Amino acid sequence: MTIFSKIIRGEIPSHKVYEDEHVFAFLDISPLSRGHALVIPKEEKATLDELSDESAAAIGRVLPRICRAVMRATGATAYNVLQNNGAAAHQAVYHVHFHIIPKTADGRGLGIDWKSGKLEPDAGRDLAARIAELLAAGD
Ligand code: AMP
Repeated sequence: MTIFSKIIRGEIPSHKVYEDEHVFAFLDISPLSRGHALVIPKEEKATLDELSDESAAAIGRVLPRICRAVMRATGATAYNVLQNNGAAAHQAVYHVHFHIIPKTADGRGLGIDWKSGKLEPDAGRDLAARIAELLAAGD
């Protein structure tokens, strides 16, 4: 169990912005920009790949709505949705969470270091086929 479960239960205070049967959302305590919010499933899973279809669907249903409200409340017109999995990917709290991070007029928001490579056709074909195979097998 993580600090986010305690937040859901109200044992630790938070600035809640949304709650339903499966989802809870609140303001990040160390915001990258004004309006930085976290959307979490009530289901206690560490990483997105572990999440049930039911929780995933519930988050997918409300995430755009919460993004719209955060944008309207802050006046931001651009934003990032970030979802970290694993320490190497900057995850600090091991309860699935989606960051909504407005890009504000003062230039604050998510900084991105995007070092892109090149997808070689043969390698891409093989990898896509492998992923598709796993998905078809129900993984
Ligand atoms: P991540 O690096 O993706 O695991 O992000 C975890 C986020 O949780 C960070 O942005 C923290 O600022 C945020 N956080 C940790 N504790 C709290 C808390 N008590 N209330 C609100 N946000 C929190």
